[in-house]
Amino acid sequence: MIIDGKKEAEVLREEIKKEIISIKKKTNRVPGLAVILIGDHIPSQIYVKNKEKCSKEVGINSNVIKYSHDVSEEEVLKKIKELNNDNSVSGILVQLPLPDQIRQESIINSIDPSKDVDGFSPINVGNLASGYNGIVPCTPKGCLMLIKKIEKNLSGKHAVILGRSNLNGKPIAQLLLKENCTITIAHSKTENLKEKCLKADILVAAVGVANLVKKDWVKDGSIIIDVGINKQGDKIVGDVSFEEVKDKVKAITPVPGGVGPMTIACLLKNTLECFKDRLT
Ligand code: NAP
Repeated sequence: MIIDGKKEAEVLREEIKKEIISIKKKTNRVPGLAVILIGDHIPSQIYVKNKEKCSKEVGINSNVIKYSHDVSEEEVLKKIKELNNDNSVSGILVQLPLPDQIRQESIINSIDPSKDVDGFSPINVGNLASGYNGIVPCTPKGCLMLIKKIEKNLSGKHAVILGRSNLNGKPIAQLLLKENCTITIAHSKTENLKEKCLKADILVAAVGVANLVKKDWVKDGSIIIDVGINKQGDKIVGDVSFEEVKDKVKAITPVPGGVGPMTIACLLKNTLECFKDRLT
């Protein structure tokens, strides 16, 4: 089965839209998402434009604050403080990467954890690591939703996660651990990678190496989630050799059209959840 991330994201966006309409009727309020974009990094500009468009479509008030590449850290911190105190702002996102003069750690630490829709602040990272409720990073949240569309009860499954980044690998592993999976986290120094992958009931590849996972790396009937986005000529491919793997496994996400669309939908979901927390 090929997991249609585009369709699943559409369904999620529709649910979010309906919920926002219903809350607006009762409270006359809608969620607000503030996005800070620094510099003229082209992929960041595309991501932010997309986030703004999707926010508007579901009824979230989106406000993009743009700075030139040479803005000071102090000025950005001042803006974040203002947004933290602004009741019309439910969620704050600072698009990464940042220019050299701005420390990522200091920016992430300055965002109010209850408005941290990316789930990157130490409080949210700590909540996830402790198995508590909190804001979960968007791509990992989307991965789990897609896995659970295929298999509701993940208890006892062996999940192998390729990649240990703070953005993807670690939070995906923690989410699956919370679902009672047995976890193997692999990275660039892991030995016998193929043998480890062959043991996976659920294999999540978040590495950034085109077509790393081959047909003879995957177990029959496993679930494969491909987070990778890699340019190969004029094509975008994942970390898994999709064509050769797809017929051997129970379910697999394509690239594009798998995890990617879920990431933005989960950002909207996180924004709605932050908004609802403030309503009560
Ligand atoms: P990252 O920070 O570069 O981390 C990559 C991880 O993969 C690291 O842990 C690295 O190991 C490991 N790795 C690298 N080469 C490996 C190899 N040959 N074998 C085993 N492990 C290897 O990347 P990231 O930010 O997590 O992103 C991963 C991929 O997901 C990228 O292609 C990115 O574009 C994509 N992505 C997709 C979405 C989406 O919405 N679909 C969102 C974010 C990112 P070490 O720790 O040892 O270096």
